Amino acid sequence: MQPSLNGGQTGLIEQVIGPGLCVGCGACVGLCPYQEYKDGRIVVIDRCHAENSRCYQICPQCAGGPQKPGGIEGALSVPDGIGTCLEIHMARGTDDEITAGSQYGGMVSSLLVRSLESGVVDNVVLTTKGGGEAPAGTLARSREEILACAGSRYNAAGGLAAMNRAYGNGATRMAVVGLPCQMIALERLAKLQPDGSERSGAVELKLGLFCTWALDYRVLRDFLKSEGIDAPARKYDIPPPPAARFDVDTSQGMRHFPLDEIRPAIQKGCRICRDMTAEYADISIGAAEGYPGWNTVLVRTETGRRLFADSCAAGLVEVRPLPEANLEHLAEAARNKRRRGEEALSEIRGGQS
Ligand SMILES: Cc1cc2nc3c(=O)[nH]c(=O)nc-3n(C[C@H](O)[C@H](O)[C@H](O)COP(=O)(O)OP(=O)(O)OC[C@H]3O[C@@H](n4cnc5c(N)ncnc54)[C@H](O)[C@@H]3O)c2cc1C
Ligand code: SF4
Ligand code: SF4
Repeated sequence: MQPSLNGGQTGLIEQVIGPGLCVGCGACVGLCPYQEYKDGRIVVIDRCHAENSRCYQICPQCAGGPQKPGGIEGALSVPDGIGTCLEIHMARGTDDEITAGSQYGGMVSSLLVRSLESGVVDNVVLTTKGGGEAPAGTLARSREEILACAGSRYNAAGGLAAMNRAYGNGATRMAVVGLPCQMIALERLAKLQPDGSERSGAVELKLGLFCTWALDYRVLRDFLKSEGIDAPARKYDIPPPPAARFDVDTSQGMRHFPLDEIRPAIQKGCRICRDMTAEYADISIGAAEGYPGWNTVLVRTETGRRLFADSCAAGLVEVRPLPEANLEHLAEAARNKRRRGEEALSEIRGGQS
């Protein structure tokens, strides 16, 4: 289905922001001056009465999502749930300087460093660590700037606002790292009227992260404060099942929380999300359960295939076959997320996607 072109900012507010379904992807920020990313959330700072607006067209939570990618020549036969794949690997970065601050195997940072240093891209849209403030999108142009953003912030951070800002400043040849909802926004970007194809043409590479849910930054911050944690997080982690734990490392030390205590901070909008493995990315990357320090890597497009092969040839990446059990488990988790999302969508919007 083509993205609906008949919604304006009013539609965005009625369908998404008003009912609390915004997931803070940042795609609607910087297309016009009316939405901003502030302290971890998207705020409407003025009303726009245009009937067709780019904010509505690009929002991954608005009706009229993109068609599922598929039909790529050479695609593997894979279990239902994980989307189109040309290659599936377990992999990790080999350069200690790159992997030291990474979340797991450092595949995202390794591929980004390679894409920048080999000239595939000139700019990389990333998410900051935030320090004492809410994490947010930023533009990196060097290895050091990429490494400064390594690791996962388990909250929405409006990262695509940085892409819009960079485009407005003339940036092209961008790589974008983002969550599945952010990859969907990029897919909708290409159809944006009036200037979607130009904006989309500025993005050369899309690296997607697996995602089950993301937290609301302000709710998380308040929870951590109530637990006596006010120093900036150095690292967050959600160890694989059956741990059911959320770990926060700060200068005050490492703290572990039962996942159930964190769940109230999950964004309401994540309930209707049906994509766990970033199906619209060139390469999708997540944890490799049971293999600490490794990533699961799904190569989805020829662009992704070229970068992955080049990074291996440059000696930046070590590869192993992903165990069959891991693939089955990932596909099952992805199908479960899709089912839960469809049920929630039915409940909230009568099934309209
Ligand atoms: C909200 C969230 C939920 C996730 N859920 C899962 C999951 O359920 N299962 C799973 O296997 N993996 C999940 N991941 C992905 C996982 O945490 C790692 O990011 C991924 O495995 C890549 O590891 P790496 O060592 O290659 O990353 P690194 O090399 O450390 O790079 C991580 C990259 O992530 C970017 N980033 C950090 N925080 C955010 C954010 N909030 N939004 C957008 N980009 C960000 C950084 O800019 C950095 O470039 C999730 C990540 C996030 C941010
Ligand atoms: S989900 Fe993204 S595009 Fe939609 S309102 Fe929220 S920040 Fe804007
Ligand atoms: S669950 Fe979906 S909507 Fe929520 S942050 Fe993850 S990808 Fe985005």
